[in-house]
Amino acid sequence: MKSYPKPKNRPALELCSECGLCDTSYLRYAKWACAFITQHIEELEKKVHGTSRILDNPQQLYFGVHQAMHSARRKDPIPGAQWTGIVSTIGMRALERGWVDAVLCVQASPEDRFRPQPILARTPAEVLAARVNKPTLSPNLSVLDEIPKQGIKRLLAIGVGCQIQALRTVQDKIGLEELYVLGTPCVDNVNRQGLQKFLDTTSHSPSTVVHYEFMQDFQVHFRHEDGHVEKVPFFGLNTKELKDVFAPSCLSCFDYTNALADLVVGYMGAPFQWQWLLVRNERGQQLMNLVKDELEFTDMVDKGNRKAAVQQGISIYDQGITLPMWLAQIMGVAINQIGPKGLEYGRFSIDSHFVRNYLYLKRNHPTKFAQQVPAFAKKIVEQYKLPDS
Ligand code: FAD
Ligand code: SF4
Ligand code: SF4
Repeated sequence: MKSYPKPKNRPALELCSECGLCDTSYLRYAKWACAFITQHIEELEKKVHGTSRILDNPQQLYFGVHQAMHSARRKDPIPGAQWTGIVSTIGMRALERGWVDAVLCVQASPEDRFRPQPILARTPAEVLAARVNKPTLSPNLSVLDEIPKQGIKRLLAIGVGCQIQALRTVQDKIGLEELYVLGTPCVDNVNRQGLQKFLDTTSHSPSTVVHYEFMQDFQVHFRHEDGHVEKVPFFGLNTKELKDVFAPSCLSCFDYTNALADLVVGYMGAPFQWQWLLVRNERGQQLMNLVKDELEFTDMVDKGNRKAAVQQGISIYDQGITLPMWLAQIMGVAINQIGPKGLEYGRFSIDSHFVRNYLYLKRNHPTKFAQQVPAFAKKIVEQYKLPDS
C-alpha cells in the first residue's frame, strides 16, 4: 500500500490527530487550541453553550450539555450516506436557504475512497459528494486560511471532536459573522495505514469494503461494493493485532460525543437502525429545524445494564484475548438479546472507550495524564475496577 509522508509542524507530536490546524497560519494558536496540548473542553462548553456540563446530572455527565435528544432518520434515505444522510441534508439545506456561504466538509480523494479531502463546499451538490465517513484522521481545519480569501462570512462546519475543539478556540479570529457547528461522535479513528490493517485483519474482502460501522447490535457491519453486508461480532475482533491500530490521539481522546458542537448527529444513543440527534443549544435546534419535516422519529430507548459487560470487556481487551469466532458469535447474540439498548448502549460504549483510553494515557503518557483526562471522564472511569498497572 502507498505510504504517505508525515506532515511537519506537529506540536502535539505523536498525539497529533491531524486536525489540519497546523497546516494553516493558525499554527500559532496550536498551543491553546490543540486538543492534545491544552485539553479544555469544560471551559469551552461554558463559552459555547453558556454553561459547562453538570457532573451530578447523569445525562450531562455522559452526553454533555444538551437541551433535547431524538431518535430519527430520513424518511427517504440518501443512497451512499453513512446512515440516512441527516448530516448531508442539513449542510445542503443551510446552503439552499442562504443561511451560510459555505459548508466545511470532507470529500474523498479521487484515488482512494478512504482518504479525506476537506473542502469548503459552496453548492448542495458539493456537500452531497462529501457524504459517508472517511474513517481516517482528517485534516478538516486545513482549509481555514481559505475562508477570508474566499470572502466567506457565514459558515457551517461539520467535524469530529478534536477538530471542533481547535475550531472553537480560534473561531473569533477567523473573521466570521456566523458559525454553525454540526458534529458527529467519533472514536477509534486510525491513520490510512492503520485502516488497512484493521480491514485486512477483520474483513473477508478488505479491498471491496465501501463503508463500515460499529453497530448497536455489537457487530461491525462491513458493506461491500456488491451491496452485501458482512457482520463480525465485537467479541471476535483480534484484540492483540488491533491494539496498536488506533491512532495515539484517539487512544487519548475523551470527546466521544463532540461536546462543543451545536448539534450532534450519530447513532450510539438511538435504537438499532436509527440515528441519534443531540441538540446542545439554540443554534443546534435551528439546524435541526432545517430538516425536521424530512425526518421520521421514534421514542428514545434506555434499557438494560451495561456495567457487567464493560467490566468483563476491560480484562478481555487488556489481556489481548481473542475469542474463537463461534464463541464470539454466541456471546454477540446473547448480549444483543439481553444487553444494553439505546442510551444505555451509548453509555456502554463511552465507558468501554474511556477506561481503555484512561489506561493508555496513564501507561504511555504519564506526564500528560492529569491534564488530558477531563473531570467528567475521571468520574465515569471511577465506577470500574481497573487492572493494577
Ligand atoms: P452523511 O450524510 O453520510 O455525512 C457524513 C459527514 O461526515 C460528511 O458531511 C463528511 O463531511 C463528514 N466526515 C466524513 N469523514 C469524516 C472525518 N474523518 N472527519 C470529520 N468529518 C468527516 N457515531 C456514533 O454514534 N458512534 C461512533 O462511534 C461514531 N464513530 C465515528 C467515527 C468517525 C471517524 C466518523 C467520521 C463518524 C463517526 N460517527 C459515530 C458518526 C456516524 O458514523 C455518522 O457519521 C453520523 O451518524 C452521520 O451519518 P449521516 O448518514 O447523517 O452522514
Ligand atoms: Fe496541530 Fe491539530 Fe495536530 Fe494538534 S491535532 S498538533 S492542532 S494538527
Ligand atoms: Fe479526533 Fe477523538 Fe475522533 Fe480521534 S477519536 S479523530 S482524537 S475526535
